[in-house]
Amino acid sequence: MGKITILESTTKNPISLMGERAGVCWGSDISDPKKNYKRGLDCLESGHGRVLEFVNVEMVLDGYSARVIREWYTHLGGAPTRLQASTRYVNYENFEYILPPKIAANEEAKALYEETMRTITETCQKLENGCGIPREDAALLLPLGMTTKIVDKRNVRNLIDMSHQRLCTRAYWEYRELMRDLMAALSGISEEWAEIVSRYFVPKCELTGFCPEKKSCGRRPKKPQG
Ligand SMILES: Cc1cc2nc3c(=O)[nH]c(=O)nc-3n(C[C@H](O)[C@H](O)[C@H](O)COP(=O)(O)OP(=O)(O)OC[C@H]3O[C@@H](n4cnc5c(N)ncnc54)[C@H](O)[C@@H]3O)c2cc1C
Repeated sequence: MGKITILESTTKNPISLMGERAGVCWGSDISDPKKNYKRGLDCLESGHGRVLEFVNVEMVLDGYSARVIREWYTHLGGAPTRLQASTRYVNYENFEYILPPKIAANEEAKALYEETMRTITETCQKLENGCGIPREDAALLLPLGMTTKIVDKRNVRNLIDMSHQRLCTRAYWEYRELMRDLMAALSGISEEWAEIVSRYFVPKCELTGFCPEKKSCGRRPKKPQG
């Protein structure tokens, strides 16, 4: 199971902050918290997305696979940044990995999967200790299923956009779980976060009313042709 820790520098009251920033441009009274909240909500409802870029989210993602983190990095809008745990100094003896539910439920597949992970560990050790290969070279054998840890910083516009792609049934199952962990972690910060998550973190079909994917899950009708 992965774990998401939201860092202190994350915006506490995102709706009010957005309303305050918009208020500066509209010559409004930004000293009134209630008016700021209402203005922020109006911006969201009207689709004035630029204000979303003032809402900062910094977090630690720990225990998710290198594979899902590779997918996480494809969300580039808004110039997010991150640091990732080094694989040059990894301890092969204890590397942890994701066991997909479908493999866990199949005895033969589970045995094969776990055997392969053991072989990777043992081969890495033999390469380094028996053959004198530097660890950074042996580490190329490490699997995408190995867990990793990142520190990540991005804005809420990027995360809302990410939710449209990654809550879709077509997205990789671990990413969908990661999104649910993220939504729970953000909702725990404040009521304003809970409101943003429940209203705006939705799969793309909920946004448009139709499914644009070739292989649809049927939750919404397919995109009309022509
Ligand atoms: C089912 C599925 C399968 C996938 N398969 C693959 C795969 O096989 N290989 C692969 O590499 N990826 C794959 N992806 C990832 C996908 O191609 C995108 O890289 C990912 O969804 C992030 O891009 P984005 O546009 O959604 O988000 P972001 O990069 O966060 O962008 C958000 C929005 O910002 C704007 N934006 C971002 N960058 C620019 C820019 N440079 N110029 C102008 N506007 C910009 C756009 O409006 C964009 O929609 C897959 C995703 C899914 C859900």
